[in-house]
Amino acid sequence: MPCQYLNFIGGQWVPSRTQRSFPNINPASTDDIVGEFQASGPDDVVAAFTAAEGAQQAWAALPAPRRGEYLFKAAEILESRLTSLAADMTREEGKTLPEATGEVKRAVNIFRYFGGEGSRLFSYQIPSERENVFCFTLRKPLGVVALITPWNFPSAIPAWKMAPALVAGNAVVIKPASLAPLSALRLVEALEKAGLPAGVINCITGSGGAIGDAMLEHRSLKAVSFTGSCDVGNRLYDTATKRRLRVQLEMGGKNPTLVLADANLDLAAATLVNAAFFSTGQKCTACSRAIVERSVYEALLEKLVAKTRALKVGNGVEAGVDIGPAVDEAQLKTDLEYITIAQREGAQLLCGGKRLTGGAYDKGFFIEPTIFGGVTPEMRIAQEEVFGPVLALMIADDFEHAMRLANGVRFGLSAAIISNDMSRVHQFVNRIEAGLITVNLPTAGVEYQLPFGGTKESSFGMREQGPLALDFYTESRTVYLKHTV
Ligand code: NAP
Repeated sequence: MPCQYLNFIGGQWVPSRTQRSFPNINPASTDDIVGEFQASGPDDVVAAFTAAEGAQQAWAALPAPRRGEYLFKAAEILESRLTSLAADMTREEGKTLPEATGEVKRAVNIFRYFGGEGSRLFSYQIPSERENVFCFTLRKPLGVVALITPWNFPSAIPAWKMAPALVAGNAVVIKPASLAPLSALRLVEALEKAGLPAGVINCITGSGGAIGDAMLEHRSLKAVSFTGSCDVGNRLYDTATKRRLRVQLEMGGKNPTLVLADANLDLAAATLVNAAFFSTGQKCTACSRAIVERSVYEALLEKLVAKTRALKVGNGVEAGVDIGPAVDEAQLKTDLEYITIAQREGAQLLCGGKRLTGGAYDKGFFIEPTIFGGVTPEMRIAQEEVFGPVLALMIADDFEHAMRLANGVRFGLSAAIISNDMSRVHQFVNRIEAGLITVNLPTAGVEYQLPFGGTKESSFGMREQGPLALDFYTESRTVYLKHTV
């Protein structure tokens, strides 16, 4: 009998008013049901927002350093459960145990970092033109905020939205992705055990299609922070802005890595394998396009294919596995469809390209890491996000051509360059259309203490993480205070 997981509303673990649930299935072994989760409906949404509304003002009235203490305590609880939380994540999402362990550690760090923000919450003090007038700004919480999160970083993304929202004095309603809701519930459990007052955090599970509109329509909602696909994000934007809600969207990418003629090709191959295939390519910052100067294309290709063929695909709980499964059958199907499209459009399959079958592979959604060569900009594989372990290699005649190819997509999340030519590196950093730029490093692998977010159609609104994260969850008030005695 699979474990039953409940919603968390007003400080209580409660079943959905719909009395329905849905299974969370292990993508590496589909006969393993991780648990049954509440299939919430609009009535649950109302209950969650009502609880949040009731708790918010008292929470905001608490001194910010004391709000931060709850995050410190929750971080301690998460850290003490690191091994079991990582195992939960591997079971529900499929990433390898080392990847899952790293992600839970990151959630711990995020809670600690924003716990510390409780003692800072910087604002401005600016001199007045007038005598005896003292001017400053105050940061105020927005009120009740909604967080809608994806499955691919099921702990880190909920953590990096919850922590700044809470420390700033907001009450939260979070809806995690239906494919991996357990990791977010574990964060909520830690906050509950840390003694967070009832109603300050509320978590409802269930289909976004079924409850998304009710969430956005609730009268107490002031802001929504969303991470996920462009299709859903753009729809949310339309609804939210009609109500003048504050909106933050983090969405897809088609992230390039430029490999210039002077590059260390061993470093380039290792960097590309890491960025394109780890976490099964299911990272918004994964590299899906390698743009390589013609003179080193063949030499790089040889190293890259050899390294990719050596990767071990399997169940992420097993030692030595580099790459877990696709998150579900639909994502696997999307990956395979893009492989077919790329071949039909004339790209050259260099390695991979197939679903893995036989033995334990038959129980899960495993796919070979795949590389296409000779990809040209009009091909769909060069323009559209696959969100799987599929890398497109493109040949550039020179640096200017490489820049045109890199910027020639609608996305602008992350981008990398492999080169020690400092003049080119500087030009790349200044001209690349991406929110996250790396040099001699993978496109993926961000740190919690720095701002994160993209440009173009990848993102909308203020940055997440780092000190800038607080801007989204607060509004500024300006005070002119005159001393009259
Ligand atoms: P998704 O299908 O857009 O889902 C994201 C969240 O939105 C889920 O919680 C989903 O609920 C919910 N949702 C779906 N329909 C909704 C609706 N009508 N109203 C309100 N919420 C709704 O994305 P995903 O498949 O989980 O994640 C993959 C995508 O996320 C990729 O495109 C990836 O690039 C992007 N991503 C971006 C970043 C970034 O920071 N830029 C980071 C990670 C991932 P259900 O799960 O119940 O459908």
